[in-house]
Amino acid sequence: MPIKQLKWPHFGERDPHKKISHLVVHCFAFPIKKNLKLWDKLGVGPHYMIDNKGNVSQFVGENRVAWHAGKSFWRGNTGLNATSIGIELYSPSFGQKPYPKVQLDAFVKLATKIIKKYHIRPENVVGHSDIAPSRKLDPNVAFPWEEMAERGIGLWPKKQAKRKSLKRTKTLLKEIGYDVADERAALLAFMRHFMPERVPVDHASIDKMEGNLPKFIAKIGKKDKDLRQMLENVAVLYAHQR
Ligand SMILES: [Zn+2]
Repeated sequence: MPIKQLKWPHFGERDPHKKISHLVVHCFAFPIKKNLKLWDKLGVGPHYMIDNKGNVSQFVGENRVAWHAGKSFWRGNTGLNATSIGIELYSPSFGQKPYPKVQLDAFVKLATKIIKKYHIRPENVVGHSDIAPSRKLDPNVAFPWEEMAERGIGLWPKKQAKRKSLKRTKTLLKEIGYDVADERAALLAFMRHFMPERVPVDHASIDKMEGNLPKFIAKIGKKDKDLRQMLENVAVLYAHQR
């Protein structure tokens, strides 16, 4: 796969004690040139970017730290820049409309290579919104995690969890790996990843939903059986990875 090499000045040195163990997926919506200017101004950037025609560019060498994750948490680890490779996908709809097949194919090729090279565990293939749920939405609801899992990238529950657990929603989210300091943000991040069809994409609906989220969370288990079941399925699947 041809990879265009860019000379990107924003990176850090890897700590030899911190092994590469996460793959973080992002998306951005600004036109690429404009977006590159913005990243440059902010002093950030990914390791790789894939445009919507499937062209891959490399900003930062894998042996260096790229500034893509920011404040982040996953399964007890913080500051995921130090232990991750970051891939940005250009998506003019900001991940609200399907990613083109040619872009996903390029992503699968690149991600598969990285996962094999560093033995990245499937539960550590995450979206930016999974590791920073109160700050980030990307790669948003259109990123096809189920299809990706079928193609060997990340995890998707195939089985229904057998026993109905009486654990709280917050406990299940925590077991999966989320930072639950803001429970509603964590729940919405979970839904963007595992139940994207249930997440409203326009901001008015999100605001409305977030306003009602404490009530919404309280109802889970009684009225929202599908969400509760999915939480349990994923929690069981991710617990088995330990
Ligand atoms: Zn991001």
